[in-house]
Amino acid sequence: MAARILLIEDEPSIAEVVEFALTSEGFQVTWRTLAREAEAEWATTSFDLLILDLGLPDGSGLELLKRLRRHSEVPVLILSARNAELDRVLGLELGADDYVSKPFSPRELAARVKAILKRTAHHPPIPAAIGSDPPIRATWFVIDEVRAAIRFQNHLLDLTRYEYLLLKTLLAQPERVFSRAQLMDQVWPDPVASFERSVDTHIKTLRAKLREIDATLDPIRTHRGLGYSVRIHDAS
Ligand code: CA
Repeated sequence: MAARILLIEDEPSIAEVVEFALTSEGFQVTWRTLAREAEAEWATTSFDLLILDLGLPDGSGLELLKRLRRHSEVPVLILSARNAELDRVLGLELGADDYVSKPFSPRELAARVKAILKRTAHHPPIPAAIGSDPPIRATWFVIDEVRAAIRFQNHLLDLTRYEYLLLKTLLAQPERVFSRAQLMDQVWPDPVASFERSVDTHIKTLRAKLREIDATLDPIRTHRGLGYSVRIHDAS
């Protein structure tokens, strides 16, 4: 699947050049001009990389990056007209992966994007230590990949294929909030918009099955307007 890039840039002439350079390389580009639009976008859709202009009409790109880094490790390439040393240092300190100053060559930008994606692809988010390394403390769930089965409180769950994939995805990063779109990406290989609701439906049936085993735990949490997460043990 083509890598998805969120471009946050308020100057149309620059955005067009970037968009053209990246789509010619096979990337899928979503372009937003405002910080608040970018935030709305990444709350619902998962991206492989962000290209961030520092001077945005409704705020500083550095502030936006700071807010993003509170909950996401998505690679970020800063694109800035300001070739100030301070911006570069601050950007990298705040967690940007690279920095390109305007004017730039579209070809160089595409090459930098590819390099970042290559670098970060080898370091996927660290999965939870379930079933592989000995867990630090007992968790409520055990995944049996070979049998495509999940045990909850030592009871084998009777799951449909989609319920299994949904729960497995949530368990890969306990406590992390997954948006519906992110869950769809993982569970439905070829998602269409109308399927969105079926995430909720499957979460509902999953919850019912977990409740049958233990009605007190309710490990799947709904985050209103954001998505779902799962707990794997009692909060300490
Ligand atoms: Ca700008």
